[in-house]
Amino acid sequence: MTNEPRIRIRDATRRSWAEPWKIKMVEPTRWTTREHRAERLKEAGYNTFLLRSEDVYIDLLTDSGTSAMSDRQWAGLMLGDEAYAGSRNFYHFEAAVQKYYGYRYVVPTHQGRGAEHLVAKIFIKAGDIIPGNMYFTTTRVHQELAGGTFVDVILDEAHDPSSTHPFKGNVDLGKLEDLIGRVGSGRIPYFSLGATVNMAGGQPVSMRNVRELRALCERHGIPILLDATRAIENAYFIQQREEGYGGKSVAEILLELCSYTDGCWMSAKKDTLVNIGGWLAVNDLDQFEEARNLVVVFEGLHTYGGLAGRDMEAMAIGIEESVDDDHIRARIGQVEYLGKKLSDWGIPVVLPIGGHAVFIDARSFYPHIPQDAFPAQALAADIYLEAGVRTMERGIVSAGRDPETGMHRYPRLELVRVTIPRRVYTQAHMDVTAEAIEEVWWNRDGATGLRMIYEPRYLRFFQARFERV
Ligand SMILES: *Cc1c(COP(=O)(O)O)cnc(C)c1O
Repeated sequence: MTNEPRIRIRDATRRSWAEPWKIKMVEPTRWTTREHRAERLKEAGYNTFLLRSEDVYIDLLTDSGTSAMSDRQWAGLMLGDEAYAGSRNFYHFEAAVQKYYGYRYVVPTHQGRGAEHLVAKIFIKAGDIIPGNMYFTTTRVHQELAGGTFVDVILDEAHDPSSTHPFKGNVDLGKLEDLIGRVGSGRIPYFSLGATVNMAGGQPVSMRNVRELRALCERHGIPILLDATRAIENAYFIQQREEGYGGKSVAEILLELCSYTDGCWMSAKKDTLVNIGGWLAVNDLDQFEEARNLVVVFEGLHTYGGLAGRDMEAMAIGIEESVDDDHIRARIGQVEYLGKKLSDWGIPVVLPIGGHAVFIDARSFYPHIPQDAFPAQALAADIYLEAGVRTMERGIVSAGRDPETGMHRYPRLELVRVTIPRRVYTQAHMDVTAEAIEEVWWNRDGATGLRMIYEPRYLRFFQARFERV
């Protein structure tokens, strides 16, 4: 035996990491042939929302309600107290929102848009202006149905897919001041603050920006309502990117973020790791009483809001799990893994990579397809055709028509969203997805656009149908 020095092949400075969970139950997936997918796609009018899930191999349509619940959450379902009034699970849920989000009063709703509906009814009157850091589809439609008009005051960088600003979700305070000067604070019932900003590509706001927004809104007597759907993912980005927050837990950062706002609406189908649920929370007693009264009309009694008791128990447990630092690091780490792979291969994606999804820039991907031939819609269809990976359009179809002129809105961002459900897929699924997108990328010159042959009146992206041109 000689004492020859050992030579290490692996780069010892790089350590792999793994998901902070192991799999206890599996749901089989099915691979299909290209011919099968081509037929299904045609039947679905080239709209990935109209495909059946059984025809999808890897489903990256949305992170909404698609999370895997933990064993603790499944156990919680068995503890459902299905009393019509005063369910024990409601009080667990209420206590979890109060503890982790810090608001005083909580009203459950069946999902996020149920809460948005109540917010619009309580706060907005005809002729009001609602400023916010980029619109969200269901949020804006409720604001408009209540007679309000949404005005976008996000930073210009948010509309530029190549800008690497670390907080592309930030509010442009100058634009907001101009707007207040023009219309007067009396017509502004609240500021609609998204964190993270879904339509900008899952981009965060900084704590500093929210603090400054608070000061400005306070000077004008304008409340701030938070779309808290992905506020925990936003808190993680603050921890990673903003000076002074590196040593704080995501839970501490979330509480501080919410403390600068007067209330929130929430889609628990996202951050909260449940398949259904949402809520509305406020600090003002009068607003709460109004919400508690209206929820009975539209959702259900104020202690269930359209949910079963067991759903509220799963939410209570999900809230606690969702603020865990290891969970959120792995969740966003997986999104970054996929995004980095695509970007390293030269595929145009929105940078920095967002919290819940990788957004492919369809304008640069298919520069030969004009926007009114729906390049992002076509790209989502092509990715499905290639490998059974389901993604969705976030561009001109999602943006809808201007209610006044009836013309398409032409958003600067024409994106395909590759959305990652929480705790569902492994790194191998990310590899298969990346390779499928790369294959479409290599064949991009032959791609063609689409023509819309059926258009619903509201939120058309869900049900519109297309054919190839
Ligand atoms: C999903 C979502 C909503 C609406 O919530 P639903 O639970 O789908 O009704 C609102 N805002 C944002 C940012 C969302 O992503």
